[in-house]
Amino acid sequence: MKITEVRIFRKDDPKNKLRAFVTITLDDSFVIRDIKVIEGHKGLFVAMPSRKLKDSCPKCNHRNEKGSKFCNQCGANIEGVTSREPQSQENDGPENEHKDIAHPITLECREYIQRTVLEVYDKEKLRHETKVEG
Ligand SMILES: [Zn+2]
Repeated sequence: MKITEVRIFRKDDPKNKLRAFVTITLDDSFVIRDIKVIEGHKGLFVAMPSRKLKDSCPKCNHRNEKGSKFCNQCGANIEGVTSREPQSQENDGPENEHKDIAHPITLECREYIQRTVLEVYDKEKLRHETKVEG
């Protein structure tokens, strides 16, 4: 598998840890959007696209974002009654309210994607900064 294109959409809000949205193309034939470049404690890292997990309200079955205190539909108190989906044993834990939509399953592939995305990000950043100064 080869990354044939990386498109960077920079976000330059210093208050936000999100540095850029990224779209990559694999083998000229498969596009993954919503990858993020995030400024972490140990520097930049690449986060795979994810969605917020949802929980059904026990009263009306409205799907609320996991961790919500009240149902958006009927207003019922749903704190703590959140159900665990049986297939979510991996990555379980209270802090895991997001689930990856697409992600590499080998360390090799993960590092390849991260390295490639950050390389392009650095180049874009450099080009941008040079333009501003000169
Ligand atoms: Zn409800």
